[in-house]
Amino acid sequence: MQLPKHVEHCLQALERASFPAYAVGGWVRDRLLGRTPQDVDLCTTAAPDQIQAVFQAYPLVLSGVKHGTVGVVLPEGVVEITTFRREGDYSDSRHPDRVWFVEDLHQDLSRRDFTVNAMAFSPTRGLHDPFGGRQDLDHRILRTVGDPEKRFREDPLRILRGVRFAVKYGLTPEEGTFQAMMALAPLMERLARERVFQELCQILPLVTAGDMARFAPVLTQPIPELGATVGFDQRSPHHAYDLYTHISHVVAATPPKLTLRWAALLHDVGKVPTFTQDSTGRGHFYGHAQASAAMAEKILRRLKAPNQLAEPVITLICQHMTPLAPDRTLLRRRLSQLGAPMVEDLLCLQQADMLSKGTGDPAEGAVFPQIRALLDRLAAEDGCLSRKDLAVDGHDLLALGFPAGKALGTCLERLLAQVVDEELPNEKAALLSAAEKMLKEMT
Ligand code: ATP
Ligand code: MG
Repeated sequence: MQLPKHVEHCLQALERASFPAYAVGGWVRDRLLGRTPQDVDLCTTAAPDQIQAVFQAYPLVLSGVKHGTVGVVLPEGVVEITTFRREGDYSDSRHPDRVWFVEDLHQDLSRRDFTVNAMAFSPTRGLHDPFGGRQDLDHRILRTVGDPEKRFREDPLRILRGVRFAVKYGLTPEEGTFQAMMALAPLMERLARERVFQELCQILPLVTAGDMARFAPVLTQPIPELGATVGFDQRSPHHAYDLYTHISHVVAATPPKLTLRWAALLHDVGKVPTFTQDSTGRGHFYGHAQASAAMAEKILRRLKAPNQLAEPVITLICQHMTPLAPDRTLLRRRLSQLGAPMVEDLLCLQQADMLSKGTGDPAEGAVFPQIRALLDRLAAEDGCLSRKDLAVDGHDLLALGFPAGKALGTCLERLLAQVVDEELPNEKAALLSAAEKMLKEMT
């Protein structure tokens, strides 16, 4: 259990001032699992003003002082040091009514959410593990510290954190913890949407289809539109799975990239409101891609997702039913319309969608390597697919006698379309003569 040098330096500084100090929480858990921890949190008996005094020679981050946290700014990064705390009641299920600074490590560990997160370690004082976190880790068990119902009622975010830890570390919630997670999932309603969104973003890249199934009541709670897909019978010969199970497989089959995972999660939510049955009883979902995209926009806005994420997600969902094909011209058109990174993501989504129907026809998947090979070839050619690559620009057309305004833009678009379709070479002379023709037609 080797701490980074600069962190050990902080621990020693506190100990020299006779404040017992420990690394705590995620760092201890990750080290015991043999994983690389993200960061180290320290805890100590020193009160915030005492921590500040010990580290007075350093720049300090004091935004968390009210909750007992002082950040010490070192060249290697910021080390967060928090005074041992005990928390009061959670009358609003969001924030403890008050926190007390305490002398006792055990009390600090007992406020923590799960046994695997409630361990402390110091090079001189060893491992403190009053709730059996190490054994739970060895057995891959997720268990709350204390009564699960009480702990989830105090802070329902712990339910979603529990899903994250289970998924990330392959833990199985102990029976009481699991039952409370399922039963109390509706309490997540009270949480700030940003916090829910953040947790979902951490969970989504890690989930398997099995995780999506076992934690469905928790994962669908913040997204009722997704909840409506659970058990939804598609009545289609193409689909062996109910809608939620299909969605779960698509999510798991996409690369673990956030935009793709969100697009996969929401790509078919519009199937529920667009569902119709024909005279044979077969289900149809006309216009569901557009319906899903509109619903995704609302869902992501509700969750306060940044536009930077929402926009590509909505585009992917909107496009998911328009198949990419191993055809040079069609592919060049999609590249020109969407850009190469979006086409790459769309291909992943369409492939995952195709492979997740549960009807198992591997021949259907043969088209994807062909499309990938053609995309590689087109990328290597580095041809003109956008206005900025066109061998003429607005100035050239003005010089030809085009009036400034809409006609000029339309002409450039038409020239680009012909270059994309390889009806015209991307050469200045050829483009100018085509433009001249257009000008004549106009006047
Ligand atoms: P990560 O590796 O994702 O940072 P972490 O365990 O360090 O995981 P943090 O959110 O950084 O998680 O929190 C640090 C520690 O604080 C946790 O290990 C846990 O002991 C405690 N903790 C955090 N959030 C809560 C909560 N909502 N309820 C109780 N304890 C919590
Ligand atoms: Mg952490």
